[in-house]
Amino acid sequence: MAEKPQPLHVVYCGVCGLPPEYCEFGPDFEKCKPWLIQNAPDLYPDLLKEAEAKAKEADKISGQLQSTSISDGSSASKPEEVKRLPGGKVKKKEKQEIIIEKVTRNKRKCITTVKGLELFGVKLSDASKKLGKKFATGASVVKGPTEKEQIDVQGDIAYDIVDFITETWPDVPEAAIYFIEDGKKVPAV
Ligand SMILES: [Zn+2]
Repeated sequence: MAEKPQPLHVVYCGVCGLPPEYCEFGPDFEKCKPWLIQNAPDLYPDLLKEAEAKAKEADKISGQLQSTSISDGSSASKPEEVKRLPGGKVKKKEKQEIIIEKVTRNKRKCITTVKGLELFGVKLSDASKKLGKKFATGASVVKGPTEKEQIDVQGDIAYDIVDFITETWPDVPEAAIYFIEDGKKVPAV
């Protein structure tokens, strides 16, 4: 036995008052859309897809906002940037000190090497000239064993040089000056 046809349940759009299938021709289809999705999704299957797409888009945006705010928050705790030399070695911060070493070459020839003046903002070429003039000897900027520039002064001037350095370059504290004696680093003061 066939079922009795159900009386057609007529619904009108809760927004514009038209039968839902006419909403798209109504005064404000955009405003009808949420109601249609809720009450007549079969009539407008595209609306559901559209709504889902919008929801996804909104999720994406809020996700982006969230990740942005997370990275903002963590920037304060970012690890301190470390200077890296080519090859990935971490460059140590150089200790500000001046190393004076008396070197005897060829048994008789004595040279006093001065390392580290550049760490106090002293121009080595300028310092070399001043040292040569002061001690009336030859002085030159040379590359040391580690390719770092140093000043070689002819002769043994080690014990006069400390006063000269601190007088000529007041930025250099006496406590930052060391001698190398018998392979040991000893403070000049
Ligand atoms: Zn409507």
